[in-house]
Amino acid sequence: MIAAKSPCHNSNAASQNAYTGESLTQTLASTSKGIATAASILAKGELVAFPTETVYGLGGDARSDIAVARIFEAKARPHFNPLIVHVPDLNAAHEIAVLDEVAERVASAFWPGPLTLVLPLRQDAGLSALVTADLPSVAIRIPEHPVAQALLRAFGGPVAAPSANPSGKVSPTRPEHVLAGLSGRIAAIVDGGPCAVGVESTILGLTGEPVLLRPGGIPAEALEACLGCVLGNGGNAQKPSAPGQLASHYAPGATVRLNVLVPEEGEFWLGFGPEAEAADLNLSPAGDLVEAAANLFHYLRRADSRSGTTIAVSPIPERGLGRAINDRLRRAAAPRPE
Ligand code: AMP
Ligand code: MG
Repeated sequence: MIAAKSPCHNSNAASQNAYTGESLTQTLASTSKGIATAASILAKGELVAFPTETVYGLGGDARSDIAVARIFEAKARPHFNPLIVHVPDLNAAHEIAVLDEVAERVASAFWPGPLTLVLPLRQDAGLSALVTADLPSVAIRIPEHPVAQALLRAFGGPVAAPSANPSGKVSPTRPEHVLAGLSGRIAAIVDGGPCAVGVESTILGLTGEPVLLRPGGIPAEALEACLGCVLGNGGNAQKPSAPGQLASHYAPGATVRLNVLVPEEGEFWLGFGPEAEAADLNLSPAGDLVEAAANLFHYLRRADSRSGTTIAVSPIPERGLGRAINDRLRRAAAPRPE
């Protein structure tokens, strides 16, 4: 098999088989050469699966809207839930989040390791709005796995990485699991063998009272001993994993009307595709769902700040990333409590 030299134009830009046109996912060895190649793929906004001590992560540049949109596309996630941002060390964590004294204590006790902290997002963090689902908080992890560490250092920026499996499937702990689910949908995987922990990271919310958002590789008791308190179980609005829980965060101030082919007089038209040529803003004039996902949060905010009345949104096809876009738009359009 011969792979074409130039990346193909499908959105995840895995290279193509010259004869069949099928996308190929490169398997890279966890050598310094393989890791350098993986870092250069990330720098192009493409996706690389890599091992951590918990499970394999599906990595993309956390500062790039397109890279993050591609993560949702590759996983076929039906919702834009926020993603965990991976950094190599505490200095890099300080660049994107605000750590108070409690956060510093937990961080120095458990990082690097299978712990994710949800912290207040720094204003100047420079992350894609899709990574945080436009929330004022960010989930950060410093993984311990030497391959993850080496990749993060070689790349030199924050990497968004949910588990490297299609949405709704079991998290992958071996490279063959990743390839079974995502082969042809991502540019590359770094082969680091099996993962040691095999369950996801524990997620601790530290944007208010400490709260356990997800049990995982670090036992809650160990966190409680460090914090000196009993943890709440996170059954509150900090935990956006259940659909709808964070509905109010995503809601623009303006009224939103969906599936509009012809907007009414005075409405702000948020268009999609070539039919919406006359739109005030177009999520993707070419009708590309990855581009539309990458623009969604910015454009909703821009539409909201410019419209006095109603935002009229073109129909978005209910396929691929369109499902997650429509999910978010339906929340924006839903009546909300005062
Ligand atoms: P996953 O990407 O599947 O490992 O899951 C990440 C989970 O982390 C999300 O579903 C949330 O529960 C949590 N999370 C990530 N980012 C944030 C954030 N900015 N604020 C609150 N929770 C978050
Ligand atoms: Mg997962």
